[in-house]
Amino acid sequence: MHAKDIAQLLDEPACSHNHKEKSACAKPKPGATDGGCAFDGAQIALLPIADVAHIVHGPIACAGSSWDNRGTRSSGPTLYRIGMTTDLTEQDVIMGRGEKRLLHAIRQAVDEFSPAAVFVYNTCVTALIGDDVDAVCKAAAGHFGVPVVPVDAAGFYGTKNMGNRLAGEAMFKYVIGTGEPLPLPASAERPGIRVHDINLIGEYNIAGEFWHVLPLLDELGLRVICTLSGDARFHEVQAMHRAELSMVVCAKALLNVARKLESSFGVPWFEGSFYGVNDTSEALRTIARMLGDEDLAARVETLIAREEARIDLALAPWRARLDGKRVLLYTGGVKSWSVVSALQDLGMTVVATGTKKSTEEDKQRIRELMGEEARMLDEGSPQALLDCMRDYRADLLIAGGRNMYTALKARLPFLDINQEREFGYAGYEGMLELARQIALTLESPVWQAVRERAPWDQPATLHAAEA
Ligand code: SF4
Repeated sequence: MHAKDIAQLLDEPACSHNHKEKSACAKPKPGATDGGCAFDGAQIALLPIADVAHIVHGPIACAGSSWDNRGTRSSGPTLYRIGMTTDLTEQDVIMGRGEKRLLHAIRQAVDEFSPAAVFVYNTCVTALIGDDVDAVCKAAAGHFGVPVVPVDAAGFYGTKNMGNRLAGEAMFKYVIGTGEPLPLPASAERPGIRVHDINLIGEYNIAGEFWHVLPLLDELGLRVICTLSGDARFHEVQAMHRAELSMVVCAKALLNVARKLESSFGVPWFEGSFYGVNDTSEALRTIARMLGDEDLAARVETLIAREEARIDLALAPWRARLDGKRVLLYTGGVKSWSVVSALQDLGMTVVATGTKKSTEEDKQRIRELMGEEARMLDEGSPQALLDCMRDYRADLLIAGGRNMYTALKARLPFLDINQEREFGYAGYEGMLELARQIALTLESPVWQAVRERAPWDQPATLHAAEA
């Protein structure tokens, strides 16, 4: 990849940063990849494509540092969960055996697993020694009769976000537009209902959470051609260009795919979220509006009325338990507002929220929800989080997994909201799960137990020992 291509990717025109004075995403500074390198970002963006063999071309540590760190689920094939790497050593580098090893690895993957396709991820070492991954992939595809896709996202190209974008570029360059959607199954055809095809971009089906939303889309007659990339199959990615509309679910990742689908194939797109009752309803309304189908819009309203009433009833006992509890939310900032509104909906007070990765628009939404005085944390160091918890008398820290030990060492209740979480919070049903998990975390007897003195440290025990 040339430096000019990377500069172009940093300058994503669909990104809201670019409407500001200071255009383009920030260039990475030293240390910027401590939250994951570009390879890591590319792999987590594409790994959920379940029937593909994902081969990491590089030293084994690259595969080890990122494999399977997002708890994404598949409803069918589990090939994506097999970690594959060419496991390059110093000897391979010195002897120039990288490309040969890659070809053998592709052969082994094809022979043993018959994948729908093979994705090859470039890493720092193989990019630096100049392995021609594109040429090997091309030769292997011709030889083995299986699509072999190079994903050129070596770690030093930039941050994890950049990796997401590079993954999107690879999909656009080599996969999207190379296949057609499967015929509509007879079960999807219902009299009087026109079925629309849509894409969901940046939906990763973490902990299977998209399965809370999918039945609603089925009911409305919305066929998901492809979710890039949760529970996706290779042939679905190939047919993305045939959708009538794309919804970008995770704000920053893969925006370039949505933009290019629009400019090359005329597929319009919008940004939405399935977190929280209001946002889920709003996303469904926007889909109907953008498809311009009045009958669908009417059915969406009926479905929203039914689901909101149902979930309101189901949430009532949880609301009573959570009412007035104070939360510090540190999500890194992506769609913080979405989670803020979900928590407020449960009667909780969000005392402060992380905005490290938030755009100006995100921050404005947060101010609207939390008031002008909203405390926004740009820094998420353990000390900053703990100080904020103490100053604002927060009952709970909701953050990413890496903050777990900060909270636990300070004996504070903690809930994981990021990609490693074990529970799905999307859709109406996900809201119920979120309320349940918050209540279980807050009410766990462990907090009382760990805050008390140990039995052998109790004054009575100490006096008895001294006597
Ligand atoms: S690609 Fe580079 S930065 Fe990323 S894990 Fe491998 S060696 Fe580290």
